[in-house]
Amino acid sequence: MAKRSKRWFSLLTEVPAAPTATGDSALEAAEGEGPPGAAWAWSRLDLPPVGPAYLRTHSQEIAILTREAGQWSDDTVVVESLFLDGGRSPRLLILVPPGQRLSINGEPASRVAIAAMRDVLAFGNAHPMFVSLFEQPVMGLAGKALAGATCPVCKTVTSAGQEVWQCAVCSAVVHNAKPDSADAERDGYACLTLSGVCPVCKQPIRTNAGLIWIPSEKE
Ligand SMILES: [Zn+2]
Ligand SMILES: [Zn+2]
Repeated sequence: MAKRSKRWFSLLTEVPAAPTATGDSALEAAEGEGPPGAAWAWSRLDLPPVGPAYLRTHSQEIAILTREAGQWSDDTVVVESLFLDGGRSPRLLILVPPGQRLSINGEPASRVAIAAMRDVLAFGNAHPMFVSLFEQPVMGLAGKALAGATCPVCKTVTSAGQEVWQCAVCSAVVHNAKPDSADAERDGYACLTLSGVCPVCKQPIRTNAGLIWIPSEKE
């Protein structure tokens, strides 16, 4: 499958350390991203980058996520990611069912709510969830997916086998030959090193997959 950069919303919930997998949803990931040695860790709930997801919230239980619309019931919260403004303004659209209460950052939210990164969501009595984003940039030799794009720096077209980086925010594909490498000597395409930010969307250049924000302190 062709590799492309991606990003998606992740909802973080505190869980006891040494988490064991709960449920069978492939979307659930108890990642154990808490500090080393801590008695708790972050459980990560990844939302699909495109389309709705259905979140179940039962009393104290951690939300279960499904993409199956058939499981939609009165206690199902619908969430959908919106990557507005060319990806620069990611927002989470939340539809709260009757009988469920949502608060955002401690304030009661309306039945149709919008959340952003760093917001704290609390459904009824369930554990609060922190809104973060996971980014998975692609960097390396251009394959099928990243060849044929126009590099925004040198304005030439990328070809298969060139070193490139793709922005996870705006999907721009930029030449990324290391300066002084054989590739750069041959082609001169060290376009990414000319700019400290993405040349198109001006967001920071991230080269590793990971959460772009993790709450720093346990409340
Ligand atoms: Zn270039
Ligand atoms: Zn960008």
